[in-house]
Amino acid sequence: MDKLLKGVVHFKKKDFEKNRGLFKDLGREQKPHTLFIGCADSRVVPSLITKTLPGELFIVRNIANIVPPFRMADEYLATTSAIEYALQELNVENIIVCGHSNCGGCAALYKEPDERLPHTTKWMELASSVKKSVEEQISEDDPLAREWLTEQSNVLEQMKHLLTYPYIAERFKEGTLDIMGWHYIIETGEVYGYDRTEGCFNLLN
Ligand SMILES: [Zn+2]
Repeated sequence: MDKLLKGVVHFKKKDFEKNRGLFKDLGREQKPHTLFIGCADSRVVPSLITKTLPGELFIVRNIANIVPPFRMADEYLATTSAIEYALQELNVENIIVCGHSNCGGCAALYKEPDERLPHTTKWMELASSVKKSVEEQISEDDPLAREWLTEQSNVLEQMKHLLTYPYIAERFKEGTLDIMGWHYIIETGEVYGYDRTEGCFNLLN
């Protein structure tokens, strides 16, 4: 805890002071250009890997960067409402779905359900089609290849789910909204981006 308290003191004294003007401008409004949908994993830090400042990314993070398909529901939908707000209120111009290496959520697809994690298990049902397709392509003898294909296929699956949102499908078709799929590799800093023309992920950096 001491580390966190020291952190907020340091932030106020150093980082905040250095960017005082920026924070003043951001004080009463935000105009983010991008909705970033990433995994909740502690090693994925969206502003760090994109070199963006406060005010640029509207960020939604959940287990395995999942986008639940669009539906009207009388429940409390965290990811869905964040997507709605980013598009309908903030009018972002880009959406990035960012998966990452060594994703625990993606790995859990291949494990027996853990009874301590009923909500996580349920949540990962939203990526179950990914597991099926990967198992058809790669055997369990090649776990690293299977891991990468699962993480990248999951990004593509969630990009597909984005298009079930009527206002996203419309803007994407009109060309006023860009949707990108990324795969971030923690130990190398590499980011692979999905290339729609080639139908594969290519290194971006
Ligand atoms: Zn993850």
